[in-house]
Parts: sequence; structure tokens; C-alpha cells
Amino acid sequence: MTNYQLICGAEIHVELKTKSKMFCGCKNDPFHAPEPNIYTCPVCLGLPGGLPVPNKQAIEDTILLGLALNCEIPSLAHFDRKHYFYPDLPKGYQISQKDEPFCLGGYVDTSYGRVRLNHIHLEEDAAKMHHEMVEARKVSLIDYNRSSVPLVEIVTEPDIHSPEQAKEFLKKVRDIIRALGISDCDMEKGSMRLEANISLSPDGNLPNYKVEVKNINSFRYFANALTTESARHAKLLNQGQTPIQETRGYRADSGTTVSQRTKEDAADYRYFPDPDIPPIVISSDWIASIAKRLPELPTAKIETLAKLGIAESTAKIIVSNQEMMEYIEHVKDLNPKYVQSAANDIVNKKIDYTKLTAEVYIKTLESKMASKITDQSLLEPIIKDVLIQNPSVVADYQAGKQNALGFFVGAVMKVTSGKADAGVVNQLLKKLL
Ligand code: ZN
Ligand code: MN
Repeated sequence: MTNYQLICGAEIHVELKTKSKMFCGCKNDPFHAPEPNIYTCPVCLGLPGGLPVPNKQAIEDTILLGLALNCEIPSLAHFDRKHYFYPDLPKGYQISQKDEPFCLGGYVDTSYGRVRLNHIHLEEDAAKMHHEMVEARKVSLIDYNRSSVPLVEIVTEPDIHSPEQAKEFLKKVRDIIRALGISDCDMEKGSMRLEANISLSPDGNLPNYKVEVKNINSFRYFANALTTESARHAKLLNQGQTPIQETRGYRADSGTTVSQRTKEDAADYRYFPDPDIPPIVISSDWIASIAKRLPELPTAKIETLAKLGIAESTAKIIVSNQEMMEYIEHVKDLNPKYVQSAANDIVNKKIDYTKLTAEVYIKTLESKMASKITDQSLLEPIIKDVLIQNPSVVADYQAGKQNALGFFVGAVMKVTSGKADAGVVNQLLKKLL
């Protein structure tokens, strides 16, 4: 069997949590809507005459993401129409970006190497289809609450070479997006959706085919898709065949992929600039004002925690959990000397951070520190040590010098910084002597 190199590029779709939709004033809240099809208007229903007006907040969020992912922000961007027919797309085209997106290039570093980005563009989400049984008949229902919700798409270069690297990369991207506060990246609800472009190369060069796997809704499934596709491609290549260029769907239940359709070309979509939306000029002043929103990013946060004496593995867990991070920051503000133990306790689940406040946690630690050591099992080895190190004083005591006891109590207090309970120490000393 030949050794192949896995070549994978990722496409990451993320719904932005702006107040309103991408091109109209309808509420952007598809997951909490009390009923389907209530947050709609002529624009997001694609009715004749509806005119799109771009959402400034969504554009700023996209540029902010680009800045966080080391992208270049061009001085001009525009929206294109991407045509395809499907009931979830009422206009018959999706407003997206092809030639002049908001962010160009960029990269994310992983421990397996750098993953370069091709670009990040902004588009509108489609409506949500529900395939159900109604009165024993298979029906497809459509909910337009999601139609035209702002959707950011991050497109990478084919720089991912293992399932492990894919997982690390995707987690990093998700953590950065969450740190920016522009999306919840909830994969279960579908506010973050993944696609993988996969091929195998016998010589490290880009092969002449790629298979797109859609419908991946967890990082684990993404890694699984790479593993199963690699095996399938290797088998075909070993038989002298080239895998067909196509779109396949990931099936979580079986861990396999199934063919959906042969891949269309960009030309099939008949992209052209949307004539309803003028090009968008991005001034350096505007970029500078957006950059002010950049918070401390996860990598920097991990470094800050490491400086406080927290192990990197512990810091990573904390940084990827917003609530844990807030708790640790709160402890740090109250008293930095307790950050290290708080970090360990929170990761080892010794703190229920939803119930125990940082203030109470610190008070508990303080009272523990202040209280006397009365535990005999803790004191006995310390006392034994002191006795072994001072054989001549032990001999004095046994010869009847009672004041030798005071010497030993003093020695134990020195070792325990004065926290040993004097009564217990006296009792133990007499027993051990
Ligand atoms: Zn609308
Ligand atoms: Mn897209």
C-alpha cells in the first residue's frame, strides 16, 4: 500500500448573533422564536420589490473576526448573487461574496503547523427545512425565521493534514469566535456548521480531485470524516482509480459518508455583483475603530494564566469555557494568590462555579489557611522527623530534662509556620518520645 498524505481544507459557517437579519430589519433569533415564520418580511421572503440593506453590525463583526485571525482587510468589498434552486432559498439566489470579500488571507497556528486561510466572507443563511411525517405523509416544512440570518464563512487553504490537527484548528477558531462575542458557535443548534474538502496525495502535491463532505456538526465527526474518507480514497487509489469529484454527506449514526451529488463548479452558480447593493468602502479609520473591540484572545489568555502559575493543560480547559474563565478572572481580581488553587479546583470539579461565588471560595480558603493543624496523621511524620534530626535532645529528655519538650514544640512550629496545634503536638511528642 502506498503512503498518501491527507490534504484537507475546511469551510466553517458561523451564524452571527446580531439583533437583526443580514439585509432587513427582522429579528435575528431563529432558535428562540415561539413559532415558525414570524420573523419575516418581503426582503427575507424574497418577494418581488424587496430591497436588501446590509447590516453594518454584521459587517463589523466579520472584519473583527478577520483582524483576530490575522487577515488583511481590503479597502473595498462587495456582495455577489450566488444562484441555485432550492425551496429554502426563496429568491433563487443567495447574497454572498465571491471576488471581493471582507477579509483576505489570514492564518491560525496549531501545534501541527500553520493553517492558512484563503478568505472570510459574509453571506445570508437559507431558511430551515424540516422533513416530517404529517398524517402519515412525508412532508417538507420550511421555517423562514432563519432566512437571511447573517452567516460568516471561513475558508481555509488545504493545510490540514491529520484528524488531530483538524480538531485543534477548529477548537481554536471556535474559542476565538466566542471570545469575540459574535456567535455562540452552537454546533447542536447549527449556528456553527462544518464542511471538509478532502483528497489524498501520493507526493505531497495538490491532487487533481477533491471530495466535499457536508453535514458535519461536531469536531469529532469532522475528524471521523477525514479518517473514513482517507480509507475510502486510499482503497480506490490503490486500485488505480481516482475518487469521483463529488459532494458527500456525513452520517453520524454509521460514521460513514454517502454520495449526494457530483460537485458543481463555481461557474454553475452564475455569480455576479448584486446590483441592489453598492460596493462597500472600508476606510482605515473604520478598521481602527473596529479593532478597538478586539479582546484578549485565547492564546494570550493562556499565556496570562501560565504567568500566574497555572499549568498549560489546565489553562486551556479554562480558556475554552467562558464561565470558568470569568470565575478565574473574578478570583484574580479579588486576590491573585488564590488563582492557582482556584484553577486546579475548578478543572478538577472541586468548585461548582454555578453555585459557589468567588468571594465565598476565597473566604473558605483563607479560613482553612488560618485554622490550626490538629490532624494527627499530618503532624506525626513532622514530629518524627524532628526527633530523628535531634538525637542528643531526645537523649536529654529521656535523661529527665523536661524542658527538652519545649525545644521540640518550637521545632515543629517552625516547620509548620506556627500552624500546628500546640496541645496536639505536646500529646504526640510525649507518646512518641
Ligand atoms: Zn426580513
Ligand atoms: Mn457558504
